[in-house]
Formats: sequence, structure tokens, C-alpha cells
Amino acid sequence: MKPQLIALDGPVAVGKSSVGSLLARRLCYVFFDTGTMYRAFTWKVITSGIATDDEDQLCHLANTTRFDFVPLRSEWLLTPFVDDEDVSSKLFRPDVEERVAIASKVAGVRQALILEQRRLARRGKVVMAGRDIGTVVLPWAELKIFLTASPEERAERRYRELMERGENTTLETVLADLKRRDGLDIQRTLSPLKPADDAVIVDTEGFTLEQIVDKIYVLAMKP
Ligand code: C5P
Repeated sequence: MKPQLIALDGPVAVGKSSVGSLLARRLCYVFFDTGTMYRAFTWKVITSGIATDDEDQLCHLANTTRFDFVPLRSEWLLTPFVDDEDVSSKLFRPDVEERVAIASKVAGVRQALILEQRRLARRGKVVMAGRDIGTVVLPWAELKIFLTASPEERAERRYRELMERGENTTLETVLADLKRRDGLDIQRTLSPLKPADDAVIVDTEGFTLEQIVDKIYVLAMKP
């Protein structure tokens, strides 16, 4: 029997979305990127005019915001809605990039978002990507993958992605932001970025997307 839940964790821009969506498509699963949820929430924080260090307001907002993830554009990819607004075009804005790792450190915010993530996982047949899926959100996932690659390679990938989205930035800025966010994600006391003890570490450096997906697909199909 194939694993019903696949946890896919790793640092900034390691390729979780590309790998996860292709893997989900191949397995006829749904791909859910929890980074999208933290980004969508951060967009809501910005538009609500709340300071990123105002923990009480952030918690209140997290508990009163409605998140919906709808298979709008394809069956395996979910489009994020925040209080009925499609926020997909807002997620990679520089102001969201700057604040997302700060908003994500707040305990009450994480609690509210993790509840939503577990609700989404209940449907089964989900590839869920993030930082803490194997360790905290779905420690019962049958297959846990932790992707790695050097900061330089990841910055190159994210830079190309941002250029394709029409964002205006430089490779140096992307690398600096990636290191800053990695630092915040690794050092935070709550749900820090780290592989689960039973995760399979997959080094993606020098491999094509198809090769990485093939490797995980074989693990998922192993009897
Ligand atoms: O994966 P992505 O870069 O889109 O995630 C954006 C930010 O959301 C991360 O830097 C991290 O601070 C936060 N995040 C998190 N836990 C997750 C997924 C993302 O804290 N499970």
C-alpha cells in the first residue's frame, strides 16, 4: 500500500514545490505547500496593518482568518484563498519574503496554521511540504523526505523562479535573504527546521528535477 501522507521538508528554495507537485501528480495525490499558508497569512498581516512583532494581534488574526485551498487550476495543485481572496500573486512579494519567517515564529500563529494543515491532511493522498511536517505537523506520515542543497545552488534556483514571476531582484539579494530566513527557521525554539529521525535525506545538488522525483517515487512505491 502506498503511503497516504508524504512529508517533504527542507530549507528555503530547495525545490520542495517543484518536487512535491510533480510527485503528487505522478502519484495522483494532492500537493500542499505549507510555506504558501505562512506566506498567505503574512500577506494578510501586511494588509491588516499589524506589526510583525505584535504577537497578540498576530494570534488573533491567525485564529480569525479563513484559509481555503482550492484545486482551481489543476487537480493536484491547490490555489490559496484568504478570506475569499485568491492570494497566489502576492506570495513572493518582497514585503512578504521579508516578514514571513518572523510571523512564523509566533506560537499562536503556528498552532492555528498547524490545525488547518492537519485538517487538509485528513483527506489522505497528500504530499505536504514545509519545515516541520515530519517532526511536528504529521509525525505519523508514512514517508518522510528531507531535501538538501547548498545555499548557493538554492539561491540560483529561487532567483530564476523570481525572474520568471517578474519580480525585480538580484542574485545577491536572494542569497542574503535565503541565509537570513534559514537562520531564523533553524534557530527558532518552536518547530525548528530539522529532519525527523526517520526521514530519508535526499541531496538534490547536481540532480535534475526528474531524477529527484524518481528517487522519491521509488521510495513511495516500495512494498
Ligand atoms: O517554503 P517557503 O520558503 O515558501 O516558506 C516561507 C516561510 O514560511 C519559511 O521561511 C518559514 O519561516 C515559514 N514556514 C514555516 N513552517 C513551514 C513552512 C514554512 O515556518 N512548515
